[in-house]
Amino acid sequence: MKITFLFLLLAVGGSISHPPLQIEPSPRFRPVNPVKHKAPVSPLYRLNDTWIPSTYVVEIKVVLDNAPAGEVPYTARSRVQISFTVKERVNSITLHANLLTGLAFRLTNEAGVDIPLSPYVVDKEVEKHFLHIPLLSGVLEPGVTYKLHAESLASIFRDGRTNALYLSSYLTEFGDTNPEPGLVGWVRSKFTTTLKMPTYLFAFTIAEYEYVTADAGLFAKPVRVWSTPNHIRDGLGNYSVNLTAKLLSFFDTFFNTTYPMEKVDSATVTHKSSAMENWGLILYRTDLLMYSPLVSLETSKNAIASIVSHEVAHQNFGNLVTCKWWSEIWLNEGFATYLSYMGVDAVAPEFRHGEWQLNDALQPALAYDSGPDSHPLKNSGLTPAEIDSYFSTITYEKGASINRMVEAFLTKETFKKGLIRYLEAKKFLGAEQDDLFVHLQQAAVEDGRVSTFPPGTDVKTILDTWTTQAGHPLVRVSVHSVHGDVLISQERYSDTNSPNLWYVPITVVTQDSPPLPNHVPTLWLSNNQRTTTYDNFPGKWIMLNADATGFYRVLYDAELTLLIQRQLRNDPSKISPLSRTQLLDDYFNLAYKGIFRNFMFPDILHFLFLV
Ligand SMILES: [Zn+2]
Repeated sequence: MKITFLFLLLAVGGSISHPPLQIEPSPRFRPVNPVKHKAPVSPLYRLNDTWIPSTYVVEIKVVLDNAPAGEVPYTARSRVQISFTVKERVNSITLHANLLTGLAFRLTNEAGVDIPLSPYVVDKEVEKHFLHIPLLSGVLEPGVTYKLHAESLASIFRDGRTNALYLSSYLTEFGDTNPEPGLVGWVRSKFTTTLKMPTYLFAFTIAEYEYVTADAGLFAKPVRVWSTPNHIRDGLGNYSVNLTAKLLSFFDTFFNTTYPMEKVDSATVTHKSSAMENWGLILYRTDLLMYSPLVSLETSKNAIASIVSHEVAHQNFGNLVTCKWWSEIWLNEGFATYLSYMGVDAVAPEFRHGEWQLNDALQPALAYDSGPDSHPLKNSGLTPAEIDSYFSTITYEKGASINRMVEAFLTKETFKKGLIRYLEAKKFLGAEQDDLFVHLQQAAVEDGRVSTFPPGTDVKTILDTWTTQAGHPLVRVSVHSVHGDVLISQERYSDTNSPNLWYVPITVVTQDSPPLPNHVPTLWLSNNQRTTTYDNFPGKWIMLNADATGFYRVLYDAELTLLIQRQLRNDPSKISPLSRTQLLDDYFNLAYKGIFRNFMFPDILHFLFLV
């Protein structure tokens, strides 16, 4: 989910699995002799990989309302020790730092000897969060592990913001609205070293919570749900804790992975907007994790199943493999969204999420994607505000729908094989969409699927048309007036004058054809027009995009619309429920946009509603 934990930590750039930590150093602190730079991906905001962190030792002293002498209420004092190496000789260190005051630094070499530093400099453009620490003299050498010791102070937010450290309160059974006052003494909690992970997945909570553990045998490692004592004692965590364990087990089995952390905790936070997949400590808004069979609505249970499945799916797609940079955040969110439906289908099939995905993801994504706020799946975000804006319906729901389309044209088996390879190859690393495409392509070659691709294309050629341009096609289907051929063409739905084109997978169902064995396309549109002939035409209907696995809308000419309408009237069961759902959504939207104007329109809607 959204980044809610951009934190008080310092980050030296360039850990392989750090999306946010790659920036280019400012010209003042370029590496010294030899000056050798890769072309910057995003020169203004990302760290480059000159500095490579290996471990962070973090000590945080949290002061709440009862501040001892010398401390300020609602602050966190932290000490961080970052071990790092350098890729080339440099005379400075550049970090990302945000929301910190009272900064002080020391640098030591492997022998623990201090290396003198000049005063640090905060970049003038504060939004970049750059902090430069020049060496007083000399350079840092490759092959040496240095330690940067940093001290800082951060405020704890109490204004509803859920960034960094923030205070959230809850009603206890005694009706207190604030955390208990009267803190006496200090409690020190020590945590074991985590696996290599992106800093944005680091989280901890301080609360007087209790927990419930998942039933034995559901998952190999401890799975717990934490909340207020009264919630836990009332059994409100029982549903989600077992659901979490079943989903962990399902995804590990499906993707041939082993959840690598020692435990899975989930906890409620009153003021959270939705949820966050932190590795080992997933946080949820209270009503998205607590379920009461006595008072909760069935829709709440469905929402819990949906979001828990999304967050558990992130443990592989987002945590084990994360996107290298936020521009490809769809690799995290598009997959977690897509897999959420699959996970719920596996552990709570009564919610029928495989079908619900059309209404919940595909149709909202098509609508958003034809509006002014659409953007390519692979976005161009640079600034924090831009990056934040790309946590959108495109990234989540279009990403999910494109995955559904790829699964359909590759087949479930081949798609799964490619994803397993991708996770195995990129685990504990950052990935780009091209990494994904390479593994899908290899699986497609092995399974003989490439023969179903348009000539001269591969997975990347096809999917680049869907991930690097905004919008989606409108596919028009019409009957050639003279010899009955069916004419199929594409144009950009939101702008018919646009030159944008896609590799569009087309499945075809005809009046006389048996149900499709799969959704492997029988033809592709690669330019703006294709002609194909079907037997027994004219006089019989033809429909494209069976079960709406393709991310596009379809408009039939008047004659075909009439024939489809007649079929719906006589025997709607000949057209699958998912195809009927999409026909309805397409025609509503085409009418709304003014592309479809026909006297038969009320009639077709009437019959679609009836079926
Ligand atoms: Zn997410």
